[in-house]
Amino acid sequence: MNTNSGAILVLSGPSGSGKSSLIGVIKEHIGDHYFSISSTTRAARDGEIDGVHYHFLDEKRFKQEIEDDQFLEYAFVHGNYYGTSIAPVKQALKDGKLVIFDIDVQGADAVKHRMGDITTSVFITTPSLSTLKKRLSSRGTDAQDVIDRRLEMACREISRMSEYDYIVINDDLDHAAKIIIRVALAARLKVPTLQINEFVQQWEQS
Ligand code: ADP
Ligand code: 5GP
Repeated sequence: MNTNSGAILVLSGPSGSGKSSLIGVIKEHIGDHYFSISSTTRAARDGEIDGVHYHFLDEKRFKQEIEDDQFLEYAFVHGNYYGTSIAPVKQALKDGKLVIFDIDVQGADAVKHRMGDITTSVFITTPSLSTLKKRLSSRGTDAQDVIDRRLEMACREISRMSEYDYIVINDDLDHAAKIIIRVALAARLKVPTLQINEFVQQWEQS
């Protein structure tokens, strides 16, 4: 049975919960992977590079890509569009890679529905709302009104935590990273139902 046919790891959680920091730590420890670079209409933050952190598009171009059916999923989050292009994801899966998404709850839902049994989902959260507030303020990348909007959104997102396969509380960064590495390694071993059925058939005949 080919257990090396690509898999998907979805990471979601409130803005400021530590998704980017955790991805930075785990990437050396999870084998061959492709980190999906989303497209967005939001402005780049200081230090963010087009094509590395996001593909920064204007609204006209983003809407054109929606019309051209280029997205695996897209959502309107915090007043901006965010979306995952389908082509590089398909290629990475074909190459047997673990494809990692940092997407919101709406996106996670869409990916689970479209990609089904090769998807493993993880919800990342801070231990408390007050910790989230502190981390968003100390990150220093967003104005207060943007932070307030993200905190409001966080309360809505956290209410959908139960839809995920795993919950990781990012209190100590290294400890949380170790848990996600284990989940990522297990995610690679997930085998689609179709392949299992084929294996059973062949196993019975040989
Ligand atoms: P996200 O990608 O989910 O928006 P970030 O990775 O940007 O979140 O983290 C938000 C802020 O919190 C950053 O300033 C980051 O350095 C900090 N941070 C992340 N994880 C921890 C942690 N476990 N302990 C303390 N600070 C953290
Ligand atoms: P940020 O602006 O902080 O980079 O991201 C804001 C939110 O958008 C986060 O919850 C992040 O997970 C989500 N996000 C980023 N890219 C995508 C995407 O391609 N699709 C969806 N649905 N959400 C995304």
